[in-house]
Amino acid sequence: MTTNTNRSYFLNRAAAALLAVCAGLASGQALAEATAIYAGKMFDSETGRLLENRTIHVVDGRIASVQKGFAKRDREKLVDLRNYTVLPGLMDMHTHLTYEFGPRTYMETFTWNPADYTLRGVDAARRTLQAGFTTVRDLGDSGNVTISLRKAVEAGTIEGPRIFTAGKSIATTGGHADPTNGYRQDLMGSPSAADGVVNGPASARQAVRQRYKDGADLIKITATGGVLSVAKSGQNPQFMKDELEAIVATAKDYGFTVAVHAHGKEGMERAIRAGVDSVEHGTYMDGETMELMKRNNTWYVPTLMAGEWVTEKSAVEGFFPDMVRSKAATIGPLIQRTFATAYKRGVNIAFGTDTGVSRHGDNAREFVLMVQGGMTPSDAIRSATWNAARLLKVQDELGSIEEGKKADIIAVAGNPLEDIAELQRVKFVMKDGKVFKQPQ
Ligand SMILES: [Zn+2]
Repeated sequence: MTTNTNRSYFLNRAAAALLAVCAGLASGQALAEATAIYAGKMFDSETGRLLENRTIHVVDGRIASVQKGFAKRDREKLVDLRNYTVLPGLMDMHTHLTYEFGPRTYMETFTWNPADYTLRGVDAARRTLQAGFTTVRDLGDSGNVTISLRKAVEAGTIEGPRIFTAGKSIATTGGHADPTNGYRQDLMGSPSAADGVVNGPASARQAVRQRYKDGADLIKITATGGVLSVAKSGQNPQFMKDELEAIVATAKDYGFTVAVHAHGKEGMERAIRAGVDSVEHGTYMDGETMELMKRNNTWYVPTLMAGEWVTEKSAVEGFFPDMVRSKAATIGPLIQRTFATAYKRGVNIAFGTDTGVSRHGDNAREFVLMVQGGMTPSDAIRSATWNAARLLKVQDELGSIEEGKKADIIAVAGNPLEDIAELQRVKFVMKDGKVFKQPQ
């Protein structure tokens, strides 16, 4: 009895071991998943300094250890980046993967099917990852397409960054993210909480719960007017205190953070007082608003690229509808100055571009604008790594090259602390330990 049990135990163990070996060899993973990366320089996101000559050991998609000097272990595959600067994967806290703005964008609402948005999203996701952005926070799509994109990336069906998405943004009637703004009367209809339009605390709660049901990761609301919607004001407050409080309280129940589009001071401050997590754009914030943000630990996501882009396009005759053009020309040029003041006053800043307004894959241009606005290159990189991970509440998993974290690692040829534009020329991209781009 005892002997038989022992024998079958050992036979089972042997069979299991054999199966494991076969599975490993069949997929080629058992050997390929251990990688040593030689980093000539390595960005330490905690201190913002460059460390020299490190070996990063990656096992099964995670950083197993980081050691001084160059030493590869047996069976490890070598990635030699001794002539490069190695950084954590970049994180963009404000993208729209399903959009890419152009003069015909306003027509797309009438002519595009969800499949069209999906295919654009697939291309945008690939370009974003190739640009060195291994994580994005998507702040508004249509048809919940980005939730499907996230699943496809996770399943490995398509190539893209790790996606945290808000799904469809939430607005009030006629507000910045009301999907039928500017339509003629018979097409305008009356969009509901499920479509992302709320009025009053009850429908605000319903809209948050609907996003939970849809599979979103966070909540995005448009607390003031915006530039690109066909509506008169780019800065009026568009949510009442009770609506904001209902959004924030419901979001907390489901573990959601709340990101808030805001240009105008009043609507922004209402949202900050209600306890939202981040303010996007923040154009008309003043010293008072900044102090309020510091007291409430509210993050600021500047999106300087969006400011630059709308300013540039407002000069092009016929690019925007008239109503949008004047808002673009007024609000666009102000964002960088607001950013410069907020940085000096010590507001917590996380990197975000609003890409989907500008072209996907150009995201790193934001670093250049941040540095032009007075930020140190080191702080600019920290905003897209260390800080962004904190805004997403994933600091235990992402944001730095440290033991135990996910192996999201990129590299550039030069020194980005000397020339921040190096980040626009990312040469190596690894996400979850898998290589997506190699130096040519
Ligand atoms: Zn946006």
